[in-house]
Amino acid sequence: MTRKSRSPQKQVFAYKLFPLAMVALVCAGQIPYFLGRQNEYLLPMATVSTGGYLVLAIAMARGAQGLGRSVLLHGLSFLVIALSVQRLLQNLIPSWPQVLQPQLFVDYGLVPFAANRLSSICAIGLIFLNLALLVELRSRWHAIVFTMTAWFAAIFALNGLVVDTSYLTNGISFFSVASLVIGGTAMALRLSAEAPFLVLFKGSGLGLALRIVSCVIVIEPLAVGLFVSAFETERYYVSASVTHVVAIIASIKLAMILAVASVFDQNQTLLQQAAEFDHLTGLLNRHGLERELANNSFNSVVMLDIDHFKQINDALGHAAGDKLLVAVAKTLSGCLGPDDVVVRWGGDEFIVLTQEHGQERLQALSEGLRKAITTLPALHLATWRFQITMSLGYAQIDFGTQGFAGAVSRADQALYAAKYAGRNKTRGERAEQVLQQFQAADMAPEAKV
Ligand code: GH3
Ligand code: MG
Repeated sequence: MTRKSRSPQKQVFAYKLFPLAMVALVCAGQIPYFLGRQNEYLLPMATVSTGGYLVLAIAMARGAQGLGRSVLLHGLSFLVIALSVQRLLQNLIPSWPQVLQPQLFVDYGLVPFAANRLSSICAIGLIFLNLALLVELRSRWHAIVFTMTAWFAAIFALNGLVVDTSYLTNGISFFSVASLVIGGTAMALRLSAEAPFLVLFKGSGLGLALRIVSCVIVIEPLAVGLFVSAFETERYYVSASVTHVVAIIASIKLAMILAVASVFDQNQTLLQQAAEFDHLTGLLNRHGLERELANNSFNSVVMLDIDHFKQINDALGHAAGDKLLVAVAKTLSGCLGPDDVVVRWGGDEFIVLTQEHGQERLQALSEGLRKAITTLPALHLATWRFQITMSLGYAQIDFGTQGFAGAVSRADQALYAAKYAGRNKTRGERAEQVLQQFQAADMAPEAKV
């Protein structure tokens, strides 16, 4: 039996429908709070809620991988996972050590207002996070405004945790606040390329200071709450209003949305990889090269071509040829510095983009590459022995004239000259003139083999 996969239209529909439904539910959940009516729920609801936060934290930890800058997010996610697991175990197993909250939750009157206010703030924050997710694909600016609003709600809620006594007594708000902070952090990370989040995530002194302050704001109340609740064994209490429950559902949904969003991200990454990377060697292909050229500046190019590659294909088979291409790609990549890039130009031809310039340095770099290839083990077929070698031609990129394309053309001619000179050779731009003489004499490199 084959599983039916959902069409992209249905995925997008779910992506839009879930946030809308959740915004409606969270709004509905606020009504009893504004009417001043608070319902109470017992242990099972607390267990369900903790499960919801666990799902959210796991989704966040997984989603964080696609987000790039994920240390803060991972740290927070794993903190909430650990707390949620502990909370679930102590709810479900009577003999489990009671670290976070007493086993039996009973509302005892005085504090529900603070607790519900806190949960309301969290619910409102979650509404804005939902809205941010909803509009993110269409309007980045609206997403930014909604995420900022959720962040302010998170800061209010965190302050509430510190100044109210609620973290001593309220079992759910602690997790509500944590989930809100994590959700807000995730959204901020998703939008990290946009001002005003850019300043938070940029590698500047101000960004670092902001990150440290954010970490302290987030961790301090959670740590204080955890520490105090470990010693507070006399207060047996939970306050759970409709707001709580809806906030919990919103959290679960947020987890789902983030999971869907991370699938979108992964698909996009896969598409980008398919478009820009060579499937066989894992090197950049010509599309990837165009992006490299758009994002970085290089001074020179080196063209490389495996010598007599056709013979290896013919004698040992295409699969052996493929393996050799992979080995060559690996060897070349291993020889280059972090700022240099190697690209599969096509067939058995590669191109290196480098910051190096000057004939001597380019000659040294190219010779290093050529020698590295000669260290690859020879391939054997009966008494035949194929020593792997490459021919190389290099040229500097002259931005005054034809730029990159001109340099490629000159490096190609130099490569042609290297082939003509007997292969396993390196030639620079001046080889161009030599080549012209060869061409004038109507002699192709093959004639020399
Ligand atoms: P030269 O020394 O003049 O470069 O001789 P050569 O035999 O290497 O000639 P050329 O560079 O023109 O040969 C390229 C060969 O590479 C032809 C083609 O069959 C083979 N080829 C192209 N792409 C692949 C591939 O992905 N895998 C394998 N195994 N072979 C490929
Ligand atoms: Mg070749």
